[in-house]
Amino acid sequence: MSPAASAAVRDRLRIAIQKSGRLSEPARALLSSAGLSWRESRDRLFCYGESLPVDLLLVRDDDIPSLIAEGVCDLGIVGRNVLNEEIDGRSASGQPAAFREWRALGFGGCKLSVAVPEGGDWRGAQQLTGKRIATTYPNQLRTWLRAQQVEADIVVLNGSVEIAPRLGQADAICDLVSSGATLAANQLKAVQDVMLSEAVLAGPVQPFGDVRAELADLLLRRMDGVLRIRDSKLLLFQTARDSLPQVLQLLPDAEPPTMCAVDGADTLALQALCHGAMTWQRLEDLKRAGARGLMVLPVERMLA
Ligand code: ATP
Ligand code: ZN
Repeated sequence: MSPAASAAVRDRLRIAIQKSGRLSEPARALLSSAGLSWRESRDRLFCYGESLPVDLLLVRDDDIPSLIAEGVCDLGIVGRNVLNEEIDGRSASGQPAAFREWRALGFGGCKLSVAVPEGGDWRGAQQLTGKRIATTYPNQLRTWLRAQQVEADIVVLNGSVEIAPRLGQADAICDLVSSGATLAANQLKAVQDVMLSEAVLAGPVQPFGDVRAELADLLLRRMDGVLRIRDSKLLLFQTARDSLPQVLQLLPDAEPPTMCAVDGADTLALQALCHGAMTWQRLEDLKRAGARGLMVLPVERMLA
């Protein structure tokens, strides 16, 4: 698409998400929680937004940064690993930044790590000097090696990076790791994190100059509301005024609670929005500290 077309005024917002893969369901779920709905066409590439003028484009995750750069899409949900690879690549070739991370979204967590054969020892990044490192993320690896002041050969592969050391193609690899099971199955161990990744909302560097700016603001506000309460619960309980300090000590993750006196002034009723896990163990500890009638309620929506 030409720059002229990308700069054209548009009255709908277009968001690219992964068509199928690790990020596709959580991305849809997040956008649905933010109140978006589409005329369903999961098998197609385009879903027309019904509740708001926000459409979805279902694509391969690797295509999302350039779709934003070309103005085909306005926003995208993509792994930081994919986004930063494009950002580092564009910066290395002197191209201007066209997109950036707008929000971290808290799912799709993984790490880009250096891994070496299990038997070998690891004394730090300097050990990679003069070695061959296989990766599908050459730009981020190059940036990281430069920051470590290490000179190594980067072997760019399109997939199956983890078998490169066994095939004699490389001495180490730099790849995505979540559980470490794939590394272990290939007799490799992760020794150094290069970057921590998760799904992010990516958008242009320059603000939108038309109605898309308002749509993007609305979407961001709603997404922030959803993200803020994702693991949160509303905790209701009563306690004797004397026990309040001990009870509150057990709620370091709570927003300042709302309190009111019941039974004259000796008993307090409280409601607190807690951001950490509310396990049975925690409830039992709260009860021991003096909380009574504990109730844990899900939080569906929040508008700060
Ligand atoms: P596509 O067909 O869209 O190109 P893909 O095979 O590149 O799909 P997936 O394997 O679905 O993509 O991974 C998408 C994203 O999920 C990754 O870019 C990364 O951000 C994240 N992710 C989380 N855990 C892992 C993992 N263990 N391995 C690979 N990616 C992971
Ligand atoms: Zn991909």
